[in-house]
Amino acid sequence: QAKRQQQRWIQYHQGMEEETARLLMLEKELLQALELNQFVLYYQPQWNIREQRIDGFEALVRWHHPERGILMPGQFLPQMEQIGLMRDLDIQLLEQAVETLGRWRKKQVQLSVAVNMSPIHFEQAGLKQRIQQLLQQYEVPPTMLELEITENTAMGDMEQGRNYVTELQQMGIRVSIDDFGTGYSSLGYLRRMPIDKIKIDRSFIMDMASSDSDMMIVKTMITLAHGLGKRILAEGVEDPNQLLLLKHMACDAAQGYLIAKPLPETDALALLQQKLSF
Ligand code: C2E
Ligand code: CA
Ligand code: CA
Ligand code: CA
Repeated sequence: QAKRQQQRWIQYHQGMEEETARLLMLEKELLQALELNQFVLYYQPQWNIREQRIDGFEALVRWHHPERGILMPGQFLPQMEQIGLMRDLDIQLLEQAVETLGRWRKKQVQLSVAVNMSPIHFEQAGLKQRIQQLLQQYEVPPTMLELEITENTAMGDMEQGRNYVTELQQMGIRVSIDDFGTGYSSLGYLRRMPIDKIKIDRSFIMDMASSDSDMMIVKTMITLAHGLGKRILAEGVEDPNQLLLLKHMACDAAQGYLIAKPLPETDALALLQQKLSF
């Protein structure tokens, strides 16, 4: 009995060592990727439904891996988080986005770019200052920058989160709620958070055409947003019928594969030169 227990302990211990070794390797690889700027932002257009034009982009990260090709966020963000590198990544991507905005502005392109902020450090000291610094450095007006946070982001301390968002807005930066409707207190959040825009989660849009209840939920979200004086965008719009339904419900904006997939910076810019209609 004792022997078997010892055997098991040894196996467990070896497993731990392998896990530790794996994490160390991964950490080294991820740190190096940060160092070599292998994390690259792609830009997905946001379609202004009423004005029939692109009026902004969401920045989404891809890892240009030297051996494995282009990796999607789901393939490396959980690991980044596990190792504690999300703050470094977010700051680096923020700079990348502001740099892009600076370039676009010089070409007279006055569109907003929305950057995803991970929950863990959203309110950590220094982020605001860093943003201010970047906007100055690249000569970008704060109104061109939008931050996407989720309902769970500032959940820890609602009061503090509220103050923080207010301060960002006083700087001129826009803040939107991502994945709306999937968190655990969507309405409570909406009531307390002074955000500018609501993004309806893709899961509601997906089944809208076939599900009366999803349709009703989307309709109600749109009415609610407008009643509160906020803009509303539908995520994951993939077919013209969904867009038509959203148009009839007076939704402000749509984002999804129907308009375009997330594109490299130059392709995103080129898309603006095209005459589009959906
Ligand atoms: P998200 O912020 O909800 O981003 C929307 C996701 O839906 C993106 O996946 C986008 O490519 C995908 N998408 C857009 N339109 C459609 C559509 O019509 N159909 C379908 N099926 N999917 C669509 P992606 O790029 O794989 O990103 C996944 C998640 O990873 C994001 O969800 C976000 O939570 C996170 N993420 C991505 N980039 C960043 C980043 O730069 N920083 C942080 N902190 N998180 C990021
Ligand atoms: Ca997002
Ligand atoms: Ca989303
Ligand atoms: Ca999401």
